[in-house]
Amino acid sequence: MTTDDAHPASPTGSPDAPLSTAAPAAPRRISRRVGAIAPSATLAVDATAKALKAAGRPVIGFGAGEPDFPTPQHIVDAAIEAAQDPAAHRYSPAAGLPALRQALAEAATASTSVPFEAAQTLVTNGGKQAVYQAFATLLDPGDEVILPAPYWTTYPEAIRLAGGVEVPVLAGVDQGYVPTLEQLETARTERTRAVLVCSPSNPTGAVLSAEQLAEIGRWALEHGIWVITDEIYQHLTYDGVEFTSILRAVPELADTTVILGGVAKTFAMTGWRVGWMIGPADVIKAAANLQSHLTSNVNNIAQRAALAALTGPMEPVDEMRTAFDRRRRAIVEKLSAVPGFTVPTPTGAFYAFPDVSGALGRTVRGREVTTSAELATVILEEAEVAAVPGEAFGAPGHLRFSYALNDEDLAAGIDRVIALLSE
Ligand code: PMP
Repeated sequence: MTTDDAHPASPTGSPDAPLSTAAPAAPRRISRRVGAIAPSATLAVDATAKALKAAGRPVIGFGAGEPDFPTPQHIVDAAIEAAQDPAAHRYSPAAGLPALRQALAEAATASTSVPFEAAQTLVTNGGKQAVYQAFATLLDPGDEVILPAPYWTTYPEAIRLAGGVEVPVLAGVDQGYVPTLEQLETARTERTRAVLVCSPSNPTGAVLSAEQLAEIGRWALEHGIWVITDEIYQHLTYDGVEFTSILRAVPELADTTVILGGVAKTFAMTGWRVGWMIGPADVIKAAANLQSHLTSNVNNIAQRAALAALTGPMEPVDEMRTAFDRRRRAIVEKLSAVPGFTVPTPTGAFYAFPDVSGALGRTVRGREVTTSAELATVILEEAEVAAVPGEAFGAPGHLRFSYALNDEDLAAGIDRVIALLSE
């Protein structure tokens, strides 16, 4: 659906009103572009859960993709030091602190084997701003972005905000959540400008293999299609599965690929708001121009903390990954005991994405449950467990459970779902 489908064009109000007799329509209050944005479903579920909790209800939240760990101490210490430094109290270059940009270039070089320079990096206010700016920088109105589904809920909104059109390509669990070349080819038109890759994936936890990435990458290269690769979960893989950047798989894509990332998930730094966009120098320069008018520099203290994260010891990350891995196995086992749920084993990120279609088409405590959105509501209200419905990810019939919460809550929460759906 395009922005215009959602809000039929009319400068004054209802497009159906007869011209001669219509009462003067109220002037539009919200622009079509912004009025068409749906609220973030994941943040909405999280907000509802937190509000219920604040009202004294013992809600267990599997909604937000947010590690429960504190940020590692050496990162916090770097921020404390930065806060004492008057240099950090001033505006700094809009594209990011030079030392952080250098560290980002080195990290990208290491993970892709393609040489990157600091000028090819841009520090953003969280990965989310990088997502938005990547589309805003690459898309003209009507340009299409092939979006493998299930997809993270922000992508279609960011594409539309940039004037683009998302073209979802649904790849189910039967194909490992990886679109086939045939599907990509069917979706490709003259307007196709970019394809999105998100591995490890939010919401499925799927990790694409080097071969799968090479196939998609070569196809994009052949057709001159940009690749936007969201690698924010690159450090969170399990079962010996290794993260591969699509640029490592197809280095020839370097001139038409934008890498997105951030510190939020890897370093338990969701609140610090540091992300990045890495790519060809002309694209990064243009995106930095946009950012210079939009937000200017990212908070210097958070940038210095991010620098400590990127250049410091990785042991704390290893410890968190070990905990996520334990919870991953626990949640897959638990969810598999829920009547009607089919649970693939995720090998990356920190989400389980069961197919819940077997639990639909029934009544739960006297309420009709036909969609995953209804199931999410019933589970929240009757079992006080928050999960995000698949509708938010272009994949109705699923629920997303983040397992970035503590072991006790995880077990107790899924036990409640088992009890409710076993009634
Ligand atoms: N990309 C993906 C795939 C994500 O899941 C998220 C967070 N949910 C982000 C980007 C953005 O993260 P942040 O803005 O917190 O850095």
